[in-house]
Amino acid sequence: MTRLFGTNGIRGVVNKDITSEFALDIGKAWGTFLKRTKKRPNIVIGTDARISNTMLKHSVSAGLLATGCDVTDIGLVPTPALQYMVKIKQFDSGVMITASHNPAEFNGIKGIDSDGTEFSKQTEECIEEIYYSNVFELVTWDEIGCFNTVEYANESYIKGIISKVDYVSIKKKGFHVVLDCGSGSGSVVTPLLLEKLGCKVTRLYCEPDGRFPGHPSEPTPENVAELVAKMKETHADVGVAQDGDADRAIFVDEQGTYIWGDQTLSLFAKYMTLHKPKSIVVTPVTSSTSVDDVVRKNKGTVIRTQVGSPIVARVMREKDAIFGGEENGGLIFPEFQFCRDSAMTIAKVLELLVNTRSSLSDLLLEIPRYEMVKKKLRCPDSIKQDLLKMIQDQIQDDSSITRIDMTDGLKVYYPKGWVLMRPSGTEPLFRIYTESKKKDDAKQLSSLFLSIVESLITKMKTT
Ligand code: MG
Repeated sequence: MTRLFGTNGIRGVVNKDITSEFALDIGKAWGTFLKRTKKRPNIVIGTDARISNTMLKHSVSAGLLATGCDVTDIGLVPTPALQYMVKIKQFDSGVMITASHNPAEFNGIKGIDSDGTEFSKQTEECIEEIYYSNVFELVTWDEIGCFNTVEYANESYIKGIISKVDYVSIKKKGFHVVLDCGSGSGSVVTPLLLEKLGCKVTRLYCEPDGRFPGHPSEPTPENVAELVAKMKETHADVGVAQDGDADRAIFVDEQGTYIWGDQTLSLFAKYMTLHKPKSIVVTPVTSSTSVDDVVRKNKGTVIRTQVGSPIVARVMREKDAIFGGEENGGLIFPEFQFCRDSAMTIAKVLELLVNTRSSLSDLLLEIPRYEMVKKKLRCPDSIKQDLLKMIQDQIQDDSSITRIDMTDGLKVYYPKGWVLMRPSGTEPLFRIYTESKKKDDAKQLSSLFLSIVESLITKMKTT
């Protein structure tokens, strides 16, 4: 059985991998699954700004209605706004039509559980199994679900965020923010939120447009060059870019320096643990050691998980964590909700600036810096697991290794840094991340393991 759901839901090229027929069957499988535990499930559906949204939304909805589920359409929303609706209006499930930061020809379907967290792997597997069985529990004509539309989701979400930050102090400060929504669904929320927080907003690509006319929707340094230039020109207090479905935020400081997601993650890990002793921060094995450094200093604990925001969110809930997130700018503030949330992150950054009376660049000076090198190699799916074992065999006599972590892939620690080797869950790729205090050390470790893994792949392919 081929997996449909990847690390972030179902993704693919529209009308090639993801057709209206496929989406219809996913809707029927989803509904069949939900009907196992509830007679008449209530589902909320929303979309990002992509061209194919309407087609996919109606196809999934038709499948859900056919199995006797009621569907509420909340229109164009950031993914965390949909998750907030699931939580506050107690929906049985949420469907988000989005391909996040992928190119314009892509779209996808993401599932949300009744508690507002992304679907667990088990739930996804149940839906996949029903989809492949092609046995759907269609209801009789008089049991078909109802479809209705509501328009207040984004407004509720904005109110929810404002209620969780020091609104009065932020408003009094009157920040200047340069905001790049990348033509994504953040456009319908973030400018409004910032205005309500008393900010002067300089807008870049704050009109939703699924063709992404300004730049691709992944907030990489290359893609947000215009934001960086604007910050250098205006010296506004904060520059920020959101990805296509606005669950991730990447910042640029008042001097126009691009801030990697790791640094923002560590910044909040530090301030969230500062006033609560022994608190817990959760992050995947991929993120920087700087998180451990700042949390340890505050006598807190870092729990490392497998890669994937649903896993981070669930562990946070289980362990009653104070904060968590990923190195890509997806931060989770549990006092609001257990999901990555860029608008909440932006409001929290403003609150932090007010509380510390500092600039973003000054705050980041206090965060330990590490150098990371990210590489990938093409690797057939069939050899991935054996490859991991072979790497382990090859390095077992290396006495300079201080620790090995198998939480996700193989993470090897040396006195000067670490190497993480992970097979991709969605593509025929093998990823090699290295981190060290010094760039040269990181590069050296990276090329050493790159050549080890490369020669093993070649050997395995030929035998
Ligand atoms: Mg996203």
